[in-house]
Amino acid sequence: MPADGRECPPVGRRFLILPRRFREVSTVEGSPPDSASRPKRSVPEGLWLQCPSCLQTLYRKQVEANLRVCPECDHHFYVSAHQRIAQLLDEESFEEWYADIRPTDPLGFVDKRPYRERLQAEQKKTGLTEACVVGRGYLRGRPLVLGVTDSAFIMGSMGSVVGEKLTRAIEDAMKLDLPLVIVSASGGGARMHEGILSLMQMAKVSA
Ligand SMILES: [Zn+2]
Repeated sequence: MPADGRECPPVGRRFLILPRRFREVSTVEGSPPDSASRPKRSVPEGLWLQCPSCLQTLYRKQVEANLRVCPECDHHFYVSAHQRIAQLLDEESFEEWYADIRPTDPLGFVDKRPYRERLQAEQKKTGLTEACVVGRGYLRGRPLVLGVTDSAFIMGSMGSVVGEKLTRAIEDAMKLDLPLVIVSASGGGARMHEGILSLMQMAKVSA
């Protein structure tokens, strides 16, 4: 920094050779050094969203209040497992069960990519360990057992973890004598990556 306290443009900047009186405006050319830390004036990301059906620009909070259904055309937006739980249950009342049951790759399955890699990518994308979340919560003050699936996780398909969690939720609801609600957002059927282990879950959850 020069003795007069003025800040020099960073070395390597194109206008370094300009007379001093121009130096202060020289940063207009590139991005100012502090641009990353300065708050952006544009609309915060995610405040608005566009309906893919009617193409209306919608206020996100209004869509949330309408249970993620477009107020203009009734288009149903994606509802994640945790959004579903928040929609249905009393605030902060959900206690997740069996969150530590993780999927494995018993067949070493590979399609376009190895199943193990796919699982990691899906977990990262959704923030879930599997396509199903179960637990206990309160609905208008009444306790119940709730299971929900998430279509974003390999289409909500049923592998051994989804089957096991749902079965345990059903059995626990019977043991605790609590009402049971399961919301299926699945469109994937039995998960092919786990072969017969997925197919047998169908029998297990319905037995
Ligand atoms: Zn719409």
